Amino acid sequence: MKYLTAASRLLRHSSRNLSDLGSNLQFFCSIRPSSSCLSYPSLRSYERFIQDDCFHRKFTLKNICFGGSGVGILHSLARFQSDGIRTHHRNLASTASIPERNKSFATINSDDISYFNKVLGGRGVVQDEEKLDDANTDWMRKYKGSSKLMLQPRTTQEVSQILDYCNSRCLAVVPQGGNTSLVGGSIPVYDEVIINVGSMNNILSFDKVSGILVCEAGCILENLMSFLDNEGYIMPLDLGAKGSCQIGGNISTNAGGLRLLRYGSLHGSVLGLEVVLANGTVLDMLGTLRKDNTGYDLKHLFIGSEGSLGIVTKVSILTPPKLPSVNLAFLACEDYLSCQKILVEAKTKLGEILSAFEFLDINAMDLVLKQLDGLRDPLPSSKHNFYVLIETTGSMESHDKEKLEAFLAQAIESGLLTDGVVAQDINQASSFWRIREGVPEALLKEGAVYKYDLSLPPEKIYDLVEEMRQRLGTAANVVAYGHLGDGNLHLNISTPQYDDNILAKIEPFVYEWTSKQRGSISAEHGIGLMKANKLHYSNSAETVQVMAAIKKVLDPSGILNPYKVLPTSVLSQS
Ligand code: FAD
Repeated sequence: MKYLTAASRLLRHSSRNLSDLGSNLQFFCSIRPSSSCLSYPSLRSYERFIQDDCFHRKFTLKNICFGGSGVGILHSLARFQSDGIRTHHRNLASTASIPERNKSFATINSDDISYFNKVLGGRGVVQDEEKLDDANTDWMRKYKGSSKLMLQPRTTQEVSQILDYCNSRCLAVVPQGGNTSLVGGSIPVYDEVIINVGSMNNILSFDKVSGILVCEAGCILENLMSFLDNEGYIMPLDLGAKGSCQIGGNISTNAGGLRLLRYGSLHGSVLGLEVVLANGTVLDMLGTLRKDNTGYDLKHLFIGSEGSLGIVTKVSILTPPKLPSVNLAFLACEDYLSCQKILVEAKTKLGEILSAFEFLDINAMDLVLKQLDGLRDPLPSSKHNFYVLIETTGSMESHDKEKLEAFLAQAIESGLLTDGVVAQDINQASSFWRIREGVPEALLKEGAVYKYDLSLPPEKIYDLVEEMRQRLGTAANVVAYGHLGDGNLHLNISTPQYDDNILAKIEPFVYEWTSKQRGSISAEHGIGLMKANKLHYSNSAETVQVMAAIKKVLDPSGILNPYKVLPTSVLSQS
C-alpha cells in the first residue's frame, strides 16, 4: 500500500473523518498502483483513448436549415445521434452579425478544379460531400459553411501555387488545421476554398542539444509530443484538443493551454516560421536562433493571426527537456478567495517546479461527472465549491514530493484547502486531467453553450461569474473553469436550447464588463468569426486600424479567411 502514503498523509491533515478516509481508500484501491512518478507515455495512450471518444464520435446532422442566403450558421441540428435522444435547435438573431458574402469573390468553376488537379497531381482535391460536410462544420457544431472544395497540398510550393492562383482569380480561402477552433475561425462562412495542410506532417529536424524542433505545419500536436517523448523532450504547449489540432493551427491561434504558466506563450517558444502569403510569396523566416535582432521580427505577425495574413507551412520551435518527476494534486477550496491565495502560495512555495494551475467550479465538476462516462469524483465524500489542479514538474522526485507535501500540509492547516488527493499513479493523474479537460465535451453534450474565453485580473474573475448567474437566474447554468494561473477564465453558459433572449442578456454585457476591467475578450481561443465585430472591446480604434492596414498590405484582395478576426466595416474603409 505504498501508493497510499501521500494521499493518507494529506487526508490526515484534513478535517475529514475516518469514513471519509475510507471512501478515498476505496477510490485508490480500485485503481492500479504503478510507479509513484508519472511518465508521459502511459498518459498519452490514455489521452488517445479519450481523444477517440471525444473527437471521432460520429455526429449526425438532421433537420439542417440554413438562414437567409442559404449559408452561414447552423440553425438546427440533431446531435449525439448515438445517444438517440438529444436534439437542440439554434435560432440565432445574431445571424445578422454574419457579414454578407463579399461579392468581389469569384465562385469555383471547372477550370479552377482542373488547375488544382494539375498542381496537386490529382491528389488532395476533395469534393466528396461527406468529407466536405465535416470540414464545413466546426467542433461546436455551431457554424456551418458551404464550401464545395478542400485542397490538401503536400509541399510549400503547392501551397504557393494554390494561393497565387486563388489571389489572381479572387477566390476566397480558409486555412484549416485540425478544425478544433472554438470561435468559428476554421470553417468557411460561405463557399471559401478550404486549404488544409494536414498532409504536410513531416518532422524535418530535431537538435537534441538545443531542443529545437523543425517540422511541417500539419503535424498533429499529440504526434509531436510522442516524437519528443522518445527524444527526452516535451512540447511547450498542451491542450485538450491535442489529438486533432495541428501545430500550424496552434501557432495561428497562439494557443495557450495547460503549460503556458510554465513555458510561456508561443511568442516566446516559436523561433521561426515559413509562411505563404496571399499572393503565393513564400516568406522564409524559419530561423533556429534564440537570439536574432535583425529588424522587424515578422514571424510574430503570423502567431495568432488566425490564417488572415498567410498560411503557416513550417515551424521551428524550442522544446523543453522532459523532466522525470511529475506530480498532480486534485484539491478543493470552499471559496474563490482561497483559490487565489493558493495560487500565490503555489507560486512562492513550489516556485520553479509549478507547471500547471487549473480550476473548475462546482457547476463544471457536476456537469463533467454527469455527462462523461467512467469518471469518478476524486473527493467523493462531500461537495466543494471549487476544485484546483496543481501539477509540479521537476528533476528530483524526492525533492519535488517533499516540496509539494509541505505546501499541501500548510495549505490544509491554514484552511485554504478543505480536501485533496495527490495522484499516486498514471491512471489517477489521467483521470484527474480528464475531469478538467473534459469540461468542453461535457458542455457540448449538455445542450447549447454560449462560450467566452476571457483574460481578467485573477481577483475579478469570479465576480463576473456571479454577476452572470444573477442576470440569468434559473434560465441557464453558468459554468466556470480555466487556466487560473494565467488569469484565463472559460465562462460557459449552458442551456437546453439556444435562445436569443438568453444571448441578449449575455452580450454585450460580458464584453462590456471585460472591457471595463481592461481584460481581453479572447485569452487564447482567438477572434474567429464569433468575435470579429467585438474586437474594439479589447483594442483601441487606432490599433484596429493598424491591424487592418497590415492586412491590406499582406492580403490586398482580402482572400485569406474573410469575415474573421477584423470587423468587416473597418476592412472596407481601409
Ligand atoms: P483550426 O481550428 O483548424 O484553425 C484555427 C485557426 O487557425 C483558424 O482561423 C484557421 O484559419 C487558422 N489556421 C489553421 N491552420 C493554419 C495554418 N497552417 N496556417 C494559417 N492559419 C491556420 N485552445 C487553447 O488555446 N487552449 C486550450 O486549452 C484549448 N483547449 C481546447 C479543448 C478542446 C476540447 C477544443 C475542442 C479546443 C480547445 N482549444 C484550446 C481551441 C483549439 O484547439 C486551438 O485554438 C487550436 O490551436 C486550434 O488548432 P487547429 O489545428 O485545430 O486549428
